[in-house]
Amino acid sequence: MTAIEKIKTDIGIMAMAQKLGLDIDHRNGKVTVNCPNCDDTGKHLTLYEGSNRFYCFKCQVKGDQIDLYSLFTGNSPKTAIAELLPAGIHITPPTGQNAHKQPVIKPVPAKTTLQDYTGLFYEVIANQDITQAGRDYLNKRGITDALILKYSITSIDDPKAFANKLQAKYPLDDLLGSGLFDYSKNGKTYCSFFYPAIIFPHWAMDYPRITYLSTRNLAGEAKSFKLHNTHSQPFPGNEAQHSKQIFIFEGIINALSYEVLTGKENFIAICGLITPESFDALKLKFPNQKLILGLDPDDAGKQALSRIESCTYINWTGFAAELGFKGLQHHPNGKAWDLNDYLINKRG
Ligand SMILES: [Zn+2]
Repeated sequence: MTAIEKIKTDIGIMAMAQKLGLDIDHRNGKVTVNCPNCDDTGKHLTLYEGSNRFYCFKCQVKGDQIDLYSLFTGNSPKTAIAELLPAGIHITPPTGQNAHKQPVIKPVPAKTTLQDYTGLFYEVIANQDITQAGRDYLNKRGITDALILKYSITSIDDPKAFANKLQAKYPLDDLLGSGLFDYSKNGKTYCSFFYPAIIFPHWAMDYPRITYLSTRNLAGEAKSFKLHNTHSQPFPGNEAQHSKQIFIFEGIINALSYEVLTGKENFIAICGLITPESFDALKLKFPNQKLILGLDPDDAGKQALSRIESCTYINWTGFAAELGFKGLQHHPNGKAWDLNDYLINKRG
């Protein structure tokens, strides 16, 4: 057994983190610490107990237990090994023809900037089509073929084949870094989009670039998936940047329903709930435009709204009237209609 093998057998990645006295966070089944390589304060470095590896989702630094020790102590791997070897153990240096086969410790890479995955997203979408199941799902909800084409909306029927295709085509580091793949609790990699789903490319406002991908799932327990370990990006309508007022919607189906209903493209869809923080970020991004919140007229929407100071809220009653409805409409169970309900029922 070599020195490296001896250390790796004796000290797992979790034990190494404890030995280093790291401030460990356990959240959503993940074990994370702040990464010293990128002056991280958001716990982007994830430890994987199953594979005894680590990976920083901010600067992409990665490695095993010994690399972790080097990273946090600033010592070279050689010094790290000397320090980590238990006293009294004599390791014979490799000799003979097998010497070169000894495992080599990769040096910790220098600081890297956040990588740009827009090209990867573009290729994924370009190589993907809308399937009949995806088209049926959207058409049934009033989303037209013209919009499917306009936003390059695609779908996956077979998530396994989708994952295999990505793995055959792209380096795992890129798939992990982009958030299309992630590590499971036991250290295995998997595709973040693992249900049959519609895939929405989020186009940048300024030029044809895809900044993000999200799904609406056609099966499975979760309604939608986002990319993992990365900040979600908005889904803007074509005219969002050049309009005096921008409607902010929760969810892309709602936003697309708005476009079908009104023919207008002055919207931004957010994946998930609008928080005071995300609303502030939007205000900073669009200082000269009026932002109108189009939260669903239900309790969750009202609750979210109550936490956001000084904002304009969509006039749902007026909106319903414009579409020919007498006041706000509700489902039999009392839940208020969302934009897609108005679209479906207006057409019906
Ligand atoms: Zn880092």
